[in-house]
Amino acid sequence: MGNLSIFNQAGYLAVTYMSLFLLLFTCIYASVGNKQVKGIWLLFWGLAVDFATQYVSQHSMEVYAQGKAVEIWVFIEMILCLISMLLLAMASSHILVNNISDLPVVLLFGGLGLVAIVFFLYIFPDNLMISKMRYIFPLAGCAYLSLGFMSQMNKRRSSGFMFAGLVMLAATIIMGLKLLGFNYFIYDAWYIPSVVYILLSVAMIMLKADMYAKKYDDSCVEIEKNTQRIEEIIKYSPFPIIISKLSDDRIILANSNAIKLFGISANELDRYHFKDFFADSENRRVLNERLEKERVVQDFEILVKTPTGNTPFWLLASANIIDYNYDVALYTAFQDITSRKNREVLLKNQATRDPLTSLYNRRYFEEEVFKRIVDAKASNEPFSVLMIDADHFKRVNDTYGHKTGDKVLIELASTCERALRDVDIVARYGGEEFVVFLAGVNARKGKIVADRLRESISEVVVYSDEGEEVRFTVSIGVSSYEISDNIDTLIKTADEALYKAKENGRNRVEIFEKEDMEAFDNKEAQERINNEVNNRHPIFEKEENTEISLLDGIEANHIQGENTQIEEQNEVKEEKVDYPILGVDEEDLK
Ligand code: GH3
Ligand code: MG
Ligand code: MG
Repeated sequence: MGNLSIFNQAGYLAVTYMSLFLLLFTCIYASVGNKQVKGIWLLFWGLAVDFATQYVSQHSMEVYAQGKAVEIWVFIEMILCLISMLLLAMASSHILVNNISDLPVVLLFGGLGLVAIVFFLYIFPDNLMISKMRYIFPLAGCAYLSLGFMSQMNKRRSSGFMFAGLVMLAATIIMGLKLLGFNYFIYDAWYIPSVVYILLSVAMIMLKADMYAKKYDDSCVEIEKNTQRIEEIIKYSPFPIIISKLSDDRIILANSNAIKLFGISANELDRYHFKDFFADSENRRVLNERLEKERVVQDFEILVKTPTGNTPFWLLASANIIDYNYDVALYTAFQDITSRKNREVLLKNQATRDPLTSLYNRRYFEEEVFKRIVDAKASNEPFSVLMIDADHFKRVNDTYGHKTGDKVLIELASTCERALRDVDIVARYGGEEFVVFLAGVNARKGKIVADRLRESISEVVVYSDEGEEVRFTVSIGVSSYEISDNIDTLIKTADEALYKAKENGRNRVEIFEKEDMEAFDNKEAQERINNEVNNRHPIFEKEENTEISLLDGIEANHIQGENTQIEEQNEVKEEKVDYPILGVDEEDLK
């Protein structure tokens, strides 16, 4: 940057060094992640070499003052000037065009410069020309670089380039004036290089800021594009899709399929929260938990309710967390699986429920009670089993027809269900027999419950097709954990107690007492022997009993007004139990 005689004073030199170091650091800062990294470094090294030229220039003056041969030092100085110019020119080329080949610039300018140096130094020595070349080379480098920076000004976010271009232009003008001989002007001041380095440092910081700004602009464009793409996909998707804000759960976007499905208004989407559509909060909690862990959840079944509809319905949802329009959002696509769910429920019901009464079937009862007994034993809880059989049911069929018989069974089942708590299990055991598992109830309390149930059933009226009133009663056998914890034995002993209730006149409840156990065991043993003798499977036993029961000839008590005798038999002690239909308190049981 010209031949400045500033280095005599250590203070000035220190400031110049510091400003050059400042430029070095800002170049490092600006070049990280910058596409113009090569241009920045060529610029720095161009200026650094120019700075070094001052030393050689100083030295050659000292050598000259001593009257020694000075050509070699002038030659070195000129070569450094040339290199500095080439570096600045290359910097400019790299700023103009990214990753341009440096060879043509080096060959053209380097070749010309070298020829000029050799020519004016050795062939036709010309002192004036040589001292002019001291300015021509850096001037050419600075001018070229200034052009390079300025050429970028039309691009977006180019304040750094513009500023650097102006700084280099100012340096070019100063050197131009110097070349023209305006030696008395401020451009000879010691601080000119420092000012240039500091201003270029500022330009480097501006370059970096521009780079960030450009990146921000690019990401904005990317986000816009992304948002548009997502919106297109959602709009034309055959599935209902909703986008909700992750931070406040508000719906941001819903396609027409989703609007239809959820019955919401397209203009007031932000009124709704995604959570509004969940019929089951636990269901939502599980989904959120999985999303937190995995960010993507596929084929998750959710029970949905809509602001307008009353009946919840099942949807299959696939949700993932996405970046949407400068926000983090939840993208959820749905598939209506109501019919599939209904089919599943139907199949499950078919496997576990009795089609006539909709009560559980025997298989389900046995499986479920087996588990419940294990739990009850673990927690030392009592339990009872009731065996319920409709009295003289054959008569109902015979008198009013099978259809009315069915009605009776349905009413009987629903009375049992209404009368018992949710924790109890009622099942149709077969034909006109029902079985109940009473949780937390011993035999004594079980009998109370059974008696109340029996009474409730006796009050039920069913109408035949001809409009006749049909009343009916049941007999109930009770067994409990005090007898056994084996489900088979419990059912058999309850059945035994039921048999006793039938024998004792029907429409009554009997408990299988501990004392009955011996007789029961003997009977069982005898039956086993008989079975072995007859080589018959015990399952046929029931069938046989039913046959006997069919033939027992006792009159049915379903006809109105014929219940007096039965009522007399009902010497059940009045006690209160907390069972829904019975409307009494647990307290009274104690
Ligand atoms: P008991 O008081 O001794 O129990 O006499 P019962 O007539 O009720 O007993 P029995 O075993 O002799 O008869 C049961 C009858 O229940 C015979 C059968 O036709 C009838 N039954 C079994 N399942 C159904 C059903 O699903 N619908 C109808 N309508 N009747 C049924
Ligand atoms: Mg029966
Ligand atoms: Mg019966």
